[in-house]
Amino acid sequence: LMQLFRPLDMLGWVYRSIRQGLIDMEAMFDLTDTPAEVVDVPNAPVLAVADGHVRFEEVAFGYEPERIILKGVTLDVPAGTSLAVVGPSGAGKSTLARLLYRFYDPTAGRITIDGQDIAQVKQDSLRTAIGIVPQDTVLFNDTIGYNIGYGREGATEADVESAAKGAAIDHFIAALPQGYESMVGERGLKLSGGEKQRVAIARTLLKDPPILILDEATSALDSRTEEAIQATLNDVARNRTTIVIAHRLSTVVGADQIVVLDAGRVAERGTHTELLAKGGLYAELWARQAAERELEEIAE
Ligand code: ADP
Ligand code: MG
Repeated sequence: LMQLFRPLDMLGWVYRSIRQGLIDMEAMFDLTDTPAEVVDVPNAPVLAVADGHVRFEEVAFGYEPERIILKGVTLDVPAGTSLAVVGPSGAGKSTLARLLYRFYDPTAGRITIDGQDIAQVKQDSLRTAIGIVPQDTVLFNDTIGYNIGYGREGATEADVESAAKGAAIDHFIAALPQGYESMVGERGLKLSGGEKQRVAIARTLLKDPPILILDEATSALDSRTEEAIQATLNDVARNRTTIVIAHRLSTVVGADQIVVLDAGRVAERGTHTELLAKGGLYAELWARQAAERELEEIAE
C-alpha cells in the first residue's frame, strides 16, 4: 500500500483511477496538492441546481490550522453572472476554486449553490455541476479524442468533434496524421500550452456545466494566443455562472463584478469602472499592468 504514495506510482494510480472512473478528471487540476479526503455526510442528497447561484458566506480556511489562508470571504455570484478574482500571487485565489469544488471544507462559514450548503450534498452531484478550466491541463497518455471525450461519459464522436470546434482546436486535430486517434501526453504528441488549454475547454464544453471556474494561465501564452483563447473562454462563459481567476487585468474588464483578494481578505469589490474610480489597489494594479502592456507593444 505504501507504494501508492511514491510520487511516480501516484501518477499511475491517478491515471488508472480515472480509467476506472473513481476520481474526476478535475481532481488532477493541481496534482501538487493532494487534497485531504472529504467525505459525503450520511444520506447526502443530490445537489439540485436551479440556475447556479453561488455564495461564499464568511468563509475561512487554512491548509494547516496554524496558517489561515482565507479570512472571512463573502462572495455573491448571481446565476449566469461572472465574478473575477484578482490579486497578488499567494492571496488565496486558487484556494477559493478548490473550496468550491470541495477538495477541502471551510473551517468556518459556508459555500452554497442555489441555497444548498455544498458540504451537505453528494460530491458527485456537486462536481457534475462545475467545470474547471485549470491553469495547467494534465493530458492522459491516450488519444486526443479520449482526452476531450473524457468531459462526458458516453460522448459520441460527433459530440467530441463539435466540442473541439467550440474550443477552436478542430482544425489543429484534423491536420494531425492520425486525427482524433493521435496519442498525446508524455508518451505521445506534446501539445503547446495553448493547445492543452483548448483541450480543457473542449472537455468543459462537453460537460456543459452550469457553473464554470477558469483559472487563467495566460502568462505561459503569447499575447496572440492569449487573446484567441480569451475570446473562446468568453463564449464558453456566456450564460453560465463563472468565476474567473485572472492574472492579467485586461481580461476582467467585462466581468459583472471584480473582487481584489489580498492576503485572504476581500480588499476591494466592484466593477472595473468603479474600482478604477476608487483609486485603490485595483487601480494601482491596472496602472502597473497597462505600463507593462505598453512596453510589450513597443518590444513587439
Ligand atoms: P493564489 O492562487 O492567489 O496565488 P493560492 O490559493 O494558490 O494563491 O495559495 C494561497 C496560499 O496557500 C499560499 O500561501 C500557498 O502557499 C498556500 N497553499 C496553497 N496550497 C497549499 C497546500 N496544499 N498546503 C499548504 N499551503 C498551501
Ligand atoms: Mg493560483
